[in-house]
Amino acid sequence: MGYLLVIDQGTTSSRAVLYDLKAQMIGFSQKEFAQSFPKPAYVEQDPSEMVDSVLWTIKDVLHSRKVSIQEIIGIGITNQRETVIAWDSLTGKPICPAIVWQCKRTKRRCESLKKAGWENKIFEKTGLLLDPYFSASKMEWILKHIKESQSLLRNHRLRMGTVDTYLMWVFSQGKIYKTDYTNASRTMLFNINTLQWDIELCDLFHIPVEILPQAAPSASIYGTTSLKVFEKEIPIVAVAGDQQSALFGQRCFHFKDLKVTYGTGCFLLLNAKEQRIRSSCGLLTTLSCETKDRPMYALEGSVFMGGALIQWLRDEVHLLSKTSESEALARSVEDSGVYIVPAFTGMGAPYWKADAEGMITGLTRGTTSAHLVRAALEAIAYEVFDVIEAMKKDLQEELREIHVDGGASENSFLMQFQSDISEVDLLRAKNIEATALGTLYLAGLTLHLWTLAEIENFSREQEKFQPQMPPSQRKRLLKGWKKALRKSFLN
Ligand code: ADP
Repeated sequence: MGYLLVIDQGTTSSRAVLYDLKAQMIGFSQKEFAQSFPKPAYVEQDPSEMVDSVLWTIKDVLHSRKVSIQEIIGIGITNQRETVIAWDSLTGKPICPAIVWQCKRTKRRCESLKKAGWENKIFEKTGLLLDPYFSASKMEWILKHIKESQSLLRNHRLRMGTVDTYLMWVFSQGKIYKTDYTNASRTMLFNINTLQWDIELCDLFHIPVEILPQAAPSASIYGTTSLKVFEKEIPIVAVAGDQQSALFGQRCFHFKDLKVTYGTGCFLLLNAKEQRIRSSCGLLTTLSCETKDRPMYALEGSVFMGGALIQWLRDEVHLLSKTSESEALARSVEDSGVYIVPAFTGMGAPYWKADAEGMITGLTRGTTSAHLVRAALEAIAYEVFDVIEAMKKDLQEELREIHVDGGASENSFLMQFQSDISEVDLLRAKNIEATALGTLYLAGLTLHLWTLAEIENFSREQEKFQPQMPPSQRKRLLKGWKKALRKSFLN
């Protein structure tokens, strides 16, 4: 008897999901929290607010389902990746705001490393491209610009890591200082061939290797929570970066199984198993969730602005009062007539244009808010389409079926348009919380509640979207998108 608790610390919100020991969801709580944009290209979060939102959702889900913390037999953590937090091990206080994955403050540093010829070596060791998106240059920035970091470093009190590491440190009151392989593989300091922190890269970014947390497989025992935090010493039994967790949660266990998560950004991960597929089309190799101590890989394409574009239309442009309204608005017009290139923080895979300019093209006096909203949803689908095409090129074969999840996958207009433009079938799980589900599966594996074969046989309901658009319309729309992209990349 008992329950498993999964914490999903995402970019825009934190969630706590309660499951019984048959992998059935019992309760769910979610709380949005703030991001700040103090300067152009800067994206920050308050780590204390992040922790408070996590603790709030845990209390809320337990209270609403009348479950006592004493009944929780294991905790799993999945989290936004690459975001960096630095804190003082004595006081537990963060020394600066969290630098969020979307933040581009280290763009120049990455450019100079590229010019100095580091790109190939970094790709070989980490599977990543030299971009401010990843943690290493953010950590280096903290060491260089936050004075307190240096005195703490001298006194062996500096702790620095990704969100999973910070949450575990807080939950255990400093007893656990660890990360998992999937999160480590996004730092640009972790060698994905050897599963070790890479001394040469740590030196390159001026990060003393001894301050980095210990890395472990996703499904393993990390330690227990402190009595002071939860009134029970609960084992933490699974940790995974949100995208790798979603791949696992979608049960993409076989070679070439592919999923897209439509959240703040859109993330396409293809299970490559033991193979390191070296992309020639701007895709990354990253570690996937593994229960054993050996590297397993995924081919990844990350689109920076996904659902965040709809959020922007709601919060800044005030075209919507709820993101869910976007579907009916988009359907209210036949065609958008305009193209939005959502290069708010540059463009990620497969283009990697940090300087691309965000733009709207094709405006006329007849353009309405419905056209703009439709164009925004279409833009998300075009970005994802370009990554699918890159994957097809790298694999040199067609992809016929994609599993989809994440907040914006609720939008059936977007799903149908994606299927039409990409000429693939989309399978949308009824439970679109694949991220939490992946970590639940991992937690159950650690605790021997189920086997991989049993997970494959758990029932699932999914909805299918199939291509319906006439080829000539598809061709015309894609031609327009390519033209808009060229304009955005001109500078
Ligand atoms: P994350 O885990 O990155 O915080 P979620 O998976 O919760 O993201 O998805 C939230 C994102 O999805 C937001 O950016 C929001 O604008 C977008 N979104 C949510 N519902 C819809 C919808 N019905 N149509 C379009 N976008 C949506």
